[in-house]
Amino acid sequence: MIPASFEYFRPATLNEAVDLLSSKEDAKILAGGHSLVPAMKFRLAQPKTIIDISRITDLSYIRETNGQIQIGAMTTHHLIESSDLLKQKCPLLSETASAIGDVQVRNRGSIGGSLAHADPAADWPAAILALDAELVIAGRDTQRTVKAPAFFVEIMQTALQPNEILTEIRVPVTPKSVAYVKFAQKASGFAIAGVASCIDKQTNSVRVGITGIAAKPYRATAVEEALQGRPLTAASIADAARKAAQGVDPLNDIHASAAFRAHLAEVNTRRSLELANSR
Ligand SMILES: Cc1cc2nc3c(=O)[nH]c(=O)nc-3n(C[C@H](O)[C@H](O)[C@H](O)COP(=O)(O)OP(=O)(O)OC[C@H]3O[C@@H](n4cnc5c(N)ncnc54)[C@H](O)[C@@H]3O)c2cc1C
Repeated sequence: MIPASFEYFRPATLNEAVDLLSSKEDAKILAGGHSLVPAMKFRLAQPKTIIDISRITDLSYIRETNGQIQIGAMTTHHLIESSDLLKQKCPLLSETASAIGDVQVRNRGSIGGSLAHADPAADWPAAILALDAELVIAGRDTQRTVKAPAFFVEIMQTALQPNEILTEIRVPVTPKSVAYVKFAQKASGFAIAGVASCIDKQTNSVRVGITGIAAKPYRATAVEEALQGRPLTAASIADAARKAAQGVDPLNDIHASAAFRAHLAEVNTRRSLELANSR
């Protein structure tokens, strides 16, 4: 339970952090530490250098500019859960944050850390996909944006390169017809099946993001297409939800079999869409 030894740096600015990340051997970012520290204690991760970004205050913010919400990567789950701006302008984020772990986890864990870690059972990816978010990534003298579906590459793998830092998450201001429904693993709260829905009642279109079911989170495009332009009724939603696990390979582990996960994907997609539609 004791991590391998490492060099520790605590930069005060993002520039300093990306410089260190590019120049130090086998370096890893430390954000809230809720996933990295346990991995280091079990020696599943043995970075030679730790770059602690938790005191870079410029990476913790929630603001609105021209109809877009911007959230700094170091913003904790708790700040997102309790933000009045988000409750008004992007309630899916507040709702998802409140479903994560417990008070300690929400106080310490960051949205950027969770997304960069890409745990297949993490909650944020469902909302990030349903909101069609953009992720801002910084390297030394570079900045690029990646759309949410391209960010999640494989199990615990993202579009981030080893010398890059996720700095910001951007989502549009969204209507109130949203919902996040999850079937949680009892001990940790991690998602066995988490479904985020966004309904645009003006264009009669939906976006559905699903986490926990497969090695990487996904947009349930078969569900979205089945509902495109159709009136949202109990019957049309139930019909479309049957396609929730279409084209994906559900995980099979001690928490749930592949067949059970596929079933949960359907049930929670239906519940999530019905709840969003009622709002
Ligand atoms: C008991 C417990 C229960 C939990 N329950 C849940 C739950 O119900 N739902 C859920 O979704 N999560 C849950 N979590 C995970 C929690 O949400 C963590 O916050 C999250 O996994 C990682 O965030 P962090 O800020 O702690 O990142 P860290 O642990 O510091 O970092 C995680 C990984 O991301 C990298 N990283 C971090 N930030 C950046 C960045 N800005 N740019 C590039 N790379 C970066 C690190 O190098 C590391 O590899 C739980 C954790 C614990 C300990």
